[in-house]
Amino acid sequence: MTEQILPDQVHDVVIIGSGPAGYTAAVYTARANLSPVVLAGSVTAGGELMNTTEVENFPGFPEGIQGPDLMMNMEAQARRFGADIRHEDATEVKLEGTVKEITLGSGGVLHARSVILATGSAYRELGVPGEKELSGHGVSWCATCDGFFFREQVIAVVGGGDSAMEEALFLTKFASKVYVIHRRDQLRASQIMADRAKANEKIEFIWNSEVTEVRGEGQVSQLGMRSTVDDTESSLEVTGLFIAIGHDPRVGLFKDQLELTEDGTLQVDGRTSKTSLPGVFAAGDVLDPHYRQAITAAGSGCVAALDVEHYLADTADSDAAETRAAQPASV
Ligand code: NAP
Repeated sequence: MTEQILPDQVHDVVIIGSGPAGYTAAVYTARANLSPVVLAGSVTAGGELMNTTEVENFPGFPEGIQGPDLMMNMEAQARRFGADIRHEDATEVKLEGTVKEITLGSGGVLHARSVILATGSAYRELGVPGEKELSGHGVSWCATCDGFFFREQVIAVVGGGDSAMEEALFLTKFASKVYVIHRRDQLRASQIMADRAKANEKIEFIWNSEVTEVRGEGQVSQLGMRSTVDDTESSLEVTGLFIAIGHDPRVGLFKDQLELTEDGTLQVDGRTSKTSLPGVFAAGDVLDPHYRQAITAAGSGCVAALDVEHYLADTADSDAAETRAAQPASV
């Protein structure tokens, strides 16, 4: 039997995700009196910036700001305008139709006229033997969380992008030496980050190399390595491995209901946030394979909020027109 939904149980907008995209969408929709419900996640509220240190390039903070502080500010700003922020996960969504259904980890169900998907992206794994087994025992995806445990140790970071440079630089505060293992001989990182890493005496680059295995009995002790130039095998003695090889969009919850791009991100209509289903909008890394900055995610959250406002106004207009058309003409 279909559950009967009373009008006052249907929210105008539910936002799934609490990074810069989700919180910005929350600030805008709250200020538009749409009383957004934000599903911020049961464990990881605040998104990836909660795992970072200083953010130097978010406009408005000339001295920089710590990632977690920035996210707590955004959350407070959204709350100030009445956003209902819940530390809950969405475990299932039904996005077809005019009323969307979102099942919560706690077992409840929310109904909404519109949904903003701002689920971000997840750390990529190497997919080599030993990686999963030694995760938490020397293998990590978060230098700010785990760097402290590697005081005076020799460790490695794999990756050649900004994240790898940032992780490596941060880890030099603790480790005695940090190898950066990159599969090519040129970095993908921005010039400023690359220059900083290259200038740091504790960092040594291992070019044209990939990690083939993480070895150790209960704790990382050695990496199996292979040259990407001539396939020569070697090994490297380290007690920690930080993996910083990018991210994949988190689309698992809704990938069967919405169109995706070749990159696996959510397909949206041009520069809007409109996905392939009416009333369903996307914001942040989940739709962005290229830019992936805190500020672009925040901008994208703003776009989604404005699109939601227009969508709800348009659907309210057409509902009113239908009601008028159904009424007998007055004399
Ligand atoms: P990214 O730019 O996509 O870089 C990923 C790196 O990992 C690349 O060097 C790539 O190698 C390597 N890689 C990918 N898959 C691999 C595999 N299976 N094995 C070995 N290496 C692999 O990702 P990111 O560094 O996470 O950065 C993402 C975005 O966030 C970027 O736009 C970046 O600018 C931004 N970001 C900015 C800052 C900052 O400004 N402070 C900090 C962090 C991130 P190839 O180069 O060969 O492809």
